[in-house]
Amino acid sequence: METIDRVSAGSARVAIVGGIHGDEPAGERIVRRLADELDAAEDGSGNDVEFGDDEGSGDEESGDEESGEGIVRLIIANERALAAKARYTDTDLNRAFPGDADSDEYERALAPRLAAELEGMDAVLALHTSRSAPPPFAIHSGLTPSVRRTVTAMPVDYVVDASGLRGTTLDSTVPHTVSIEVGRQGSEEAVEFGYEACLAFLRAHGAIDDEPPTFTEATVVAGDEEVPKGGGEPHVHYANFEEIPRGAVFAEDDVYTHRVEEEGVVPILASEHGYEEIFGIYGRVTGTLEPPASASETAAGSGGGGEAGVEGGGTAEEADATAEEVETE
Ligand SMILES: [Zn+2]
Repeated sequence: METIDRVSAGSARVAIVGGIHGDEPAGERIVRRLADELDAAEDGSGNDVEFGDDEGSGDEESGDEESGEGIVRLIIANERALAAKARYTDTDLNRAFPGDADSDEYERALAPRLAAELEGMDAVLALHTSRSAPPPFAIHSGLTPSVRRTVTAMPVDYVVDASGLRGTTLDSTVPHTVSIEVGRQGSEEAVEFGYEACLAFLRAHGAIDDEPPTFTEATVVAGDEEVPKGGGEPHVHYANFEEIPRGAVFAEDDVYTHRVEEEGVVPILASEHGYEEIFGIYGRVTGTLEPPASASETAAGSGGGGEAGVEGGGTAEEADATAEEVETE
């Protein structure tokens, strides 16, 4: 694991994690690019990201940042798997949380070290790519105000609520974590999209202030159940978030024919060769995640309203209530 700390433009403590899976090089590339660019801001290149305690540049666009408290932590998680160009070396890191520091399995021992690096963060974004078709989408396992802010700042139309699935992923273990599937494994588009998503994430939490954050609603799809693979040649007939007509076959191989007998089912992470054990996950559209009631009032990193504590400590209930409130700007 490699940790690269950069100074935030605001008071938020945020982290971006790439390279959880070693066969997804986009995450590491995005993290290294961000590390370089946040470095470059040190030279006073117009971005207000600054280093150390120096607040004296005098050309800040908004004068209320609390420089010096926030942090942008950039992490390359699974260096051994990245070197091997394999999803994992001993066991899937994103199925190994909370992990075991004494385990002989590399990833199982790495999991608690990674979680420790993320402790106390106001917002975490974990980068992934997949072998399923676009569009990119976000995943969370527990809605907090921070998660709402992250998801609605992302340039995605869909967010998967994975709280009903297994609890061994990073986003189900570390609070305020959103995972994002940025595109096809190995594609340049995934790197570009993921990079832009990271900038949107950093803006949303006040960590960079090159331009104001923008927020849009996202369609929520609850993950219901994994769709098992049997063996032989796999066939998948519906793409991510495409509604499967009642009675239609979603996927099949020599062992299984997965016919959908209900309405409203959509596939998540659907792919023929992406996973050894599953074709994907059945999901169901459950609603819409609205942007935060006010784009500026609750940003932990904006420093504007002094409400940073609310952002980090809120509950899902508060988040739901916030959605119903009228804009107070
Ligand atoms: Zn991944």
